[in-house]
Amino acid sequence: MDNIAPPKYVLQVLRSLKARGYVAYLVGGCVRDMALGVHPNDWDICTSALPEQVLEVFPGARPTGIRHGTVTVDINSRHVEVTTFRSEGEYSDHRHPNTVHFVGELTTDLSRRDFTINAMALSPDGLLLDPFGGLEDIRRRCIRCVGQAPRRFEEDALRMFRALRFSARLDFSIAEDTLEAIREKASLASSLAAERVKDEVGKTLLTKKPETVGRMAQLGLLDAFLVKPGEALPELSAAASLPRKALDRWMALCLVLSRRGLISDVRDFLSSLKLDSRSIRCCTDGVSILSGPKPSNAPEWKRLLCRMGVDTVSCAARCLDALDGGSSYKELKAVLKSGECFTMKHLAVTGDDLAELGLRGRELGEMLAFLLDYVIDYPANNRRELLLSLAGNTEEL
Ligand code: ATP
Ligand code: MG
Repeated sequence: MDNIAPPKYVLQVLRSLKARGYVAYLVGGCVRDMALGVHPNDWDICTSALPEQVLEVFPGARPTGIRHGTVTVDINSRHVEVTTFRSEGEYSDHRHPNTVHFVGELTTDLSRRDFTINAMALSPDGLLLDPFGGLEDIRRRCIRCVGQAPRRFEEDALRMFRALRFSARLDFSIAEDTLEAIREKASLASSLAAERVKDEVGKTLLTKKPETVGRMAQLGLLDAFLVKPGEALPELSAAASLPRKALDRWMALCLVLSRRGLISDVRDFLSSLKLDSRSIRCCTDGVSILSGPKPSNAPEWKRLLCRMGVDTVSCAARCLDALDGGSSYKELKAVLKSGECFTMKHLAVTGDDLAELGLRGRELGEMLAFLLDYVIDYPANNRRELLLSLAGNTEEL
C-alpha cells in the first residue's frame, strides 16, 4: 500500500467530499491493486454523499449511473467514478438486483461486493477498512467470495466467471468453498447475457493464464454456450505466448476445443457467445486452415492468403507456432515480404484488360483465376504483356 499513492486529482475529489462533511473512501479494484503493488487502471471512490449531493459538490459532474448511485467527476482531464454507499435488494434474474438502496455505511457497501480482495476501502489518510479479510487473502493469493458463495453466485452468476478471471489475471487460487459453489451453481450461467460471458472469456484469454477458460468449460460454465464439459485444457497455456490480441487468443481457444472434440462447430460456438461477425469468420477459417496439412512452400501459403486474407492466415500461423511449435509465421512473413502476387488486386492484368481481349462473364472470371494461379507458381511472370499473351493463347500453355 505504501509504494503506490493515489494521484493528486483523486485525493482532491476525496478531500472535496470530506470538506463538505461526507465520508469518502477509495474502494474496490484500486485498493486491491495498491495492496498488490500494481498501478490501478482506474480509481473508484465510494461516499456517504447521495448522488445529488455529489453533483452539488462537483457542479460539472455527470450522472453516469444515477440508478446505481454513480456520478463521474471530470478533473484535470481525468475522470473518477464516485458512487454512493449502497446495498442491494433481492435478485430475481441471477444478474441484477431488483432494487438498490443507498445506505450511510461503508461495511454494508463492502458486503455487496464480489470477492474479499475487491471489498476493501482506503480512507484519505491511509486507513485500510477490510472487514472481510481481503488483505489476508491477498497474502494467501486466494479468491474468496464475500459471504456465502452459493448465495452470491445465485444473486449474480457472472461472479463465477469473474472468480476465474481474477484467478487467471492475478495467478491466485480459488478458495475451496468458492470453487465448490461454482461447481454447484454452474448451470446458472445459462441465464447470463452472452455478451457478458464473451467479455469475461475474452478478458481471461488475454491474461497470462488463458488455459483458465478450459477450467470454465470443465466446471460446466460454458455448457450453455455449446462447449461440452471435459478435461482441463493444459495445452491452451501455450496461447500465453501469442500477442495480447483478442483474435489470436480466440482462434487458439477454438482450435484447442475443436481438436479435443469439445465443440462441434466453431461458427455455432462463437455465434452463441455473440462474437462479432469478422472474428467469427476469421476463427472459423483459421481453424479450417489449422485442421488441414500445414503449408509447406510459398505457393501453398499464397493460395491460403488468397482464399482467407492476410489477417486470418497470419493469426492461424501464429497459433500453429504457439500450440504446436515450428516457424510457420516466419515462413509466412517471408512470403509477404517477397511482395509476390497472391490476390487479383496484385495481378498485372485486370478484368478490363481481359474484356478488351473479348472475354466476358464466367469465361473472364475463370481466366483471371487461371492467371492468378499461374502467377502464384511463377511469380516472376506477373507481367502484363506476358499475361495478356497467355490469356489470348491459353491453348499454348
Ligand atoms: P479492473 O481492474 O478489471 O477494473 P475491478 O476490481 O475494478 O478490476 P470492476 O469490474 O471495475 O473490477 O468492478 C469494480 C468493483 O465493483 C470491484 O472491485 C468489486 O468490488 C465490485 N464489483 C464489480 N462487479 C461486481 C459483481 N458482479 N458483483 C459484486 N461486486 C462487483
Ligand atoms: Mg475497475
